[in-house]
Amino acid sequence: MVSKSFETNCVHGTYKPKSGEPLVLPIYQNTTYRYDNTDEVAAIFDLESDGHMYSRISNPTCGYLEEKMALLENGTAAVSASSGQSAILMTVLNIAEAGDHIVVSTKIYGGTYNLFAVTLKKLGIMTTFINPEASETEIIKAANKNTKLIYSESLPNPSLRILDIEKFARIAKTLDLPLVVDNTLASPALCNPIDFGADIVIHSTTKYSDGHASCLGGMVIEAGKFNWNNGKFPGMVEPDQSYHGVKFYEEFKEKAFTARIRAVVLRDFGCTMAPMNAYLTHQGLQTLSLRMKQHSENALNLAKFLEKDPLIEWVKYPGLKNDEDYELAQKYFKKGQSGVLSFSLKGGLNSGKLFLNSLKLVSIAVHVGDIRTLALQPSSTTHRQLTEEEQLMSGITPGLIRVSVGLEAIEDIIEDFSNALEVIRCQ
Ligand SMILES: *Cc1c(COP(=O)(O)O)cnc(C)c1O
Repeated sequence: MVSKSFETNCVHGTYKPKSGEPLVLPIYQNTTYRYDNTDEVAAIFDLESDGHMYSRISNPTCGYLEEKMALLENGTAAVSASSGQSAILMTVLNIAEAGDHIVVSTKIYGGTYNLFAVTLKKLGIMTTFINPEASETEIIKAANKNTKLIYSESLPNPSLRILDIEKFARIAKTLDLPLVVDNTLASPALCNPIDFGADIVIHSTTKYSDGHASCLGGMVIEAGKFNWNNGKFPGMVEPDQSYHGVKFYEEFKEKAFTARIRAVVLRDFGCTMAPMNAYLTHQGLQTLSLRMKQHSENALNLAKFLEKDPLIEWVKYPGLKNDEDYELAQKYFKKGQSGVLSFSLKGGLNSGKLFLNSLKLVSIAVHVGDIRTLALQPSSTTHRQLTEEEQLMSGITPGLIRVSVGLEAIEDIIEDFSNALEVIRCQ
């Protein structure tokens, strides 16, 4: 079922039971599928007809989740993955190979930075990192004839410097390249990058989509508007020998990018989402719009409280009126600025540690997007593989604390923060 309203689509899209069928999306816990005759299977193998063949490639529970994510992101199609990292990996490997190049914003998640800067480099895919605030001309100069995509995050984890998506869409258009936007921290409830010109949207569904810290997952969603037949993407337009010469763009049109990920990358690499995880993620998505409103409201209130404390050097939350990204937030994040904020204690690294160790309600955890309030110090955890210089490039200072504000009563969250700040004051 498809409605005009996001809230209804969270609840009802896209699994719609017929009379007598389960009200809740069932978990199809199976590896394989039964057919009446060999021709039917052969047609599926040749991508001539729809249908499931083997759960490494597709599964009904994962399928409903994929359709729901595509619907919530205003995309044409989606493909799920075992984690956010594998969704990113599959996106790059779908169109880039050894000798190719990608242009990437420096304001990205630490794990993604490592994947591009270290691991993909070893496979021969080179990355040029660019400061997203650089001029359009400067960013365009970073591309070369082998560049295959532009990569960025809408609400970067953890710098929270909001991406000017339309600026990046213009750059991508000038270069005739797809713009990939990781929309994990925003979730589809707060921002739909496709509406601003993104070609591919990625989610670590591990975060707000699931929302309950119960399962890993990733998603690749396509806008369906990119012209792959521009001479840069032979894998999308030339005949694929492993499928009797199928031409993905010609055959699957506005769904070609995810169709190729499924038929080639997922088939060969097997980083598939488990049906159980698809079910749990789907459960989470049903309450997404409600949760994101409350996460955003709680985060704004906590940010306003922290801003007033003399022990705190600065607070970064794009919903604060004096935040450097407030204008961009009003454009791209009208409905709320999500539940993640960061701040820096004047006392630096050691004050940060004392603060975290004094929290009682709030947990120290390497995670964001959970119903519980979580906090950590990126420099000593998520970003510790990076050098101090690389950390600063990603917007991480030593005393930075990242908070993922949960759904507890705001009075209780503030009391816990207030008590932990008192411990530092009494030192
Ligand atoms: C967590 C995260 C990822 C990686 O996702 P996993 O599901 O942990 O593999 C990618 N991008 C962003 C922005 C993230 O926050």
